[in-house]
Amino acid sequence: MLDVNNIRSNFPILNQKIYNKPLIYLDNGATTQKPQIVIDEIVNCYSRINSNIHRGVHFLSEQSTLQYEIARESVRTFINAKSSAEVIFTHGTTEAINLVASSFSEKYIKAGDEIIISEMEHHSNIVPWQLVCERKNAKLKILPFDNNGDLIISKLEELITDKTKIISITHISNSLGTINPIKKIIEKAHSYNIPVLIDAAQSIQHLCIDVQELDCDFLAFSGHKIYAETGIGILYGKEKLLDQLPPYQGGGDMIKNVSFEKTTWADLPLKFEAGTSNYVGAISLGKAIKYIENIGLENIAEYESYILKYATEKLNTIEQLRIYGTSKNKSAIISFNLNNIHNYDVGMMLDKMGIAVRTGTHCTEPVMKHFEIQGTVRASFAMYNTIEEVDALYDGILRIIKIFE
Ligand code: PMP
Repeated sequence: MLDVNNIRSNFPILNQKIYNKPLIYLDNGATTQKPQIVIDEIVNCYSRINSNIHRGVHFLSEQSTLQYEIARESVRTFINAKSSAEVIFTHGTTEAINLVASSFSEKYIKAGDEIIISEMEHHSNIVPWQLVCERKNAKLKILPFDNNGDLIISKLEELITDKTKIISITHISNSLGTINPIKKIIEKAHSYNIPVLIDAAQSIQHLCIDVQELDCDFLAFSGHKIYAETGIGILYGKEKLLDQLPPYQGGGDMIKNVSFEKTTWADLPLKFEAGTSNYVGAISLGKAIKYIENIGLENIAEYESYILKYATEKLNTIEQLRIYGTSKNKSAIISFNLNNIHNYDVGMMLDKMGIAVRTGTHCTEPVMKHFEIQGTVRASFAMYNTIEEVDALYDGILRIIKIFE
């Protein structure tokens, strides 16, 4: 088991009171808090080495470039990519998916082609593909999930045709918590030579991901959900695929030579990193990864499973509470509603007790439509949450039910 008290002491924001109550932060699916070591790294960057990367011959520029590339190497080893050419810094998951949607469709998608996503995708893995479909007159096909929140994998075979060009699927649902069988999906897709993009926004901080073992073609995640700064993310792509794609954006850093007659592109990964990157964010991501590696993702996963089991069993004893997302294979996310009480009311009342949860559709409106609800209350846990915090959530819910009665 993790030494949770020790981990909590690394996160200064957790040690404060909200409305005179100790803060209980259960909105980790939206963003995680930052350990002091990451905050210190950001301060260190701006107070000692700040300078634009890849451009200067002077000391500071060389230092920040070096740290930026060291961070890329940390990401590479963390996800076990073959080469650092396959690790592209983006603003986050959303930009990484937009990059693939834009460049991949430019090269490979034509009228009548098909793209498969699932019914449980975050809007950022729906809308970019809808834009592609509009632009190219292509078709979006949806893999449904059942009432437990499990993808109906048997339907995948029915959806695949010789027009299917890409499958883009989330590893873990941010509103249901389901851990999808992505290896199976990738194997099936590859048996038809279809590439697969994995949205790892909700899994990168909870599960060990080995892109070579998974054999995914693209993988996207955000730094801010894995204890690093906001505005930084990763697109992993197999080198041979990325090599064939046209650039996503044009600008500085992504070119080899520019003339008015002919411009040539930089080699990977810079071909996809136009303009000044968020190099401080990238360096903070490298630090966050080192922090997590020291604790051990297996230990984190084990502890979070324990919290999930305890919280699920406890909340299930409340008669008026229904959990959405009851897959046997779940991450530490619990979406729920209370009978006849609006999710916003529950969220606002919990907030007054110092408990931060998410309310609404969680950018997954089709999931809400599936269950014919307007939204849910979502408690999403991280390695620094405690059993006592789960108890406080439970007590808070009972108080709300009493008040409404
Ligand atoms: N996909 C999933 C599954 C998510 O949970 C999120 C963030 N809530 C995103 C994509 C988008 O991430 P970002 O806003 O950091 O780009």
